Amino acid sequence: MKKITVLFAAVVWLISACATAPATQSSGLTFFHLNDTYRVDAVEDGTAGGFSRVMTLVRDAKAQGRDVRILHGGDFLYPSLESQLWDGLQMIDAMNFVNAVAPLYAVAGNHEFDRRGPEQLVAALKASDFAWLGDNYTFDTGDVAADAMLRSGFTFQSGDKTVGVFSVTLHGDDGGNTRDYLDIDPDYKGAARRAIAALDARGVDLIIGVTHIHMWQDVEIAKLQADYPKLAFIVGGHEHEPQYSKVANSAIVMKGASNARVIWRIDVDFSEGDGYIVNEQRIVLDEAIAFDPDYDVLANKWRGRLLEKFPFLEARIGTAAHRMDVREETIRSRETSWGNFVTDLMRKAFGDPPADLAFINGGTLRIDDYIEDDIRFEDIGRTFGFSSLLRYTTVTGAEFKRIMEAGYRGGPEAQGYFPQVSGFRVCVDRSRKEFDRIVSLQLPSGDGWQEIEADREYLLVVPDFLYGGGDGYEIPKDRFASRPGSELKYLVLDEILRAQGNGESVGEPVTRENRRYHELLESKEPCFTH
Ligand SMILES: [Zn+2]
Repeated sequence: MKKITVLFAAVVWLISACATAPATQSSGLTFFHLNDTYRVDAVEDGTAGGFSRVMTLVRDAKAQGRDVRILHGGDFLYPSLESQLWDGLQMIDAMNFVNAVAPLYAVAGNHEFDRRGPEQLVAALKASDFAWLGDNYTFDTGDVAADAMLRSGFTFQSGDKTVGVFSVTLHGDDGGNTRDYLDIDPDYKGAARRAIAALDARGVDLIIGVTHIHMWQDVEIAKLQADYPKLAFIVGGHEHEPQYSKVANSAIVMKGASNARVIWRIDVDFSEGDGYIVNEQRIVLDEAIAFDPDYDVLANKWRGRLLEKFPFLEARIGTAAHRMDVREETIRSRETSWGNFVTDLMRKAFGDPPADLAFINGGTLRIDDYIEDDIRFEDIGRTFGFSSLLRYTTVTGAEFKRIMEAGYRGGPEAQGYFPQVSGFRVCVDRSRKEFDRIVSLQLPSGDGWQEIEADREYLLVVPDFLYGGGDGYEIPKDRFASRPGSELKYLVLDEILRAQGNGESVGEPVTRENRRYHELLESKEPCFTH
């Protein structure tokens, strides 16, 4: 039996002038929050996440008499295998289905702007029945009707209560996309304050936020509750792992896991006067929660279309030597067998001898799933939601250490920039200050390992995205670099087919002996001892 998976954070929170227990006059407002969803269907062979399970919970809440609203914290149009065919219209179809059962309000995440031109965004906006919200950004797509679909100062009615929703999204300077058809104000807190003040002045009963920015920025905005007590909570996206912050005199901040693996249910009940009670639950969506048969008609329709386009999608192309965990929470925080396999191929991308060093940001490897037993074409298609052309250049040992420090900045939680590496092993102490955390970075030497030499030149292979400064990696541009070439997806496919032809399986387990990444638990601990 599966363990009970509905986790109750069950923090009842009171914000009311009256300290006595309020006689609640329930308006029964329930929000479900999800974010960073790239799949119409569930993940992990259908055992985790997915809109279908969300629909089951939504229908249950409605059956309890709750007034249900769905909040989406952004990132849904791209990237995915399906988006390469339909530019996110498959997700719009799924979100319209949700919206027809309970109104859906979404903020645009940075991935809604992955395309350089506005045409695909315009098509997505026009196909949407649900509301797109934005208070720190506007569209200038050249299509006035599409631009006007982005709502600012949004409110909705629940019984006799009016709820205001503010919404902010990520600027290019913080890892968002910069586009001609887009104007984003990077002063998130300023924009939020203006939007909240305007909602407050209109006399709304409750204010909530739906955002797509970094968690610490949400936490900063949440402090506005001190000035605007009606600000109850902020739900967001961009991080792919669950986030939660609850501090005195601040609004609660919540984010779910990618692909609706973990979502939030937030019940709001209004008490007499200006008070309200927020009761939030973190919900893990797994097999304990049934699929919604009506939604599954839609999911099966898109699966059928995908198989029509790629009849070979489920074809077996190789064999995994062991169960490889390629879920985002893993590939964005730890060394992985799949990441090692991919980066080893990167070093060989430009012929013999292989480059000395290679790395890739975990966020590029998008499959968010396990790869085990048969490797199917679909595993490759889903791993590479982006095109990943590679480049090679040279760096000195000292430069390379500086470059890699960017990969270990911030907290220990999963980050899209966390590197999967090849050609070296690295020992990191996160208790040290940022950009001074690499204790040791070693290359193979004979039978052993040797510290990288500060003045020596090394050949480095990286995706074009990282060469261009993506994810905060600063690679020197004052020397020769190859043109972008050698699509990583095909290298991986090629190698798997080669291995299969030779009767070999793919992927080597990460062990204490062969590990490439060692994060010290204590500063005194020596690197790479077993
Ligand atoms: Zn994002």
